Amino acid sequence: MIIIDAGHGGTDPGACAGGIREKDWTLEVSLHQQSFLNNLGIQTVLTRTSDKGLTPIERTNLVKRCGGSICISNHFNAGGGKGAEVIHSIYSDGKLAKAAGHALTSAGMPLRRVFSRKGRDDRDYYFMHRLTGSVETLIVEYGFLDSTEDMAKLRALRLKLAESVALAVVKKTQSVYVVQAGAFQEKKRALTLCTELREKGYDAIIKEER
Ligand SMILES: [Zn+2]
Repeated sequence: MIIIDAGHGGTDPGACAGGIREKDWTLEVSLHQQSFLNNLGIQTVLTRTSDKGLTPIERTNLVKRCGGSICISNHFNAGGGKGAEVIHSIYSDGKLAKAAGHALTSAGMPLRRVFSRKGRDDRDYYFMHRLTGSVETLIVEYGFLDSTEDMAKLRALRLKLAESVALAVVKKTQSVYVVQAGAFQEKKRALTLCTELREKGYDAIIKEER
């Protein structure tokens, strides 16, 4: 089971820039990750499924008590920077966070950094790490709402980016079985099959191999 946390919500809009409120996009990408993972047969739990406010305690209690062991906490940045960030606990080896960061880059969003942050009391700085017990929580900042460059990518790619993170997490925890539907010399035939599969509701892609 994978826990999906839509950052912010209710009276807490999170970052606001370019006419976008962070809480709306975190909910959108979280719901998308849920259906993406459910389609793969993987159970999910969301911290919120509507525009609802949660205190840090309410949010982290949900994460801690639902029985999952990995949490993706979805966020969008602001404050003058660009690129995606993945933040892991000071107690994590960072491998899962690096895998998520790599997936974001491959999906089209340059990676700013993967890091962990210690507070003054030597504990995790972020409550999503500090208060979620043994759950491995990744805080994913998909990009900066106040960066023109990031915004162009986020407007077009945010659902794909969210999928790539979800898939990276799944791959770290279990095998994923990829179905190949055919191999063709003519691109046209590949396109025809791809279209047919998409019409049937499959998430088909074409990969060129030499
Ligand atoms: Zn946030």
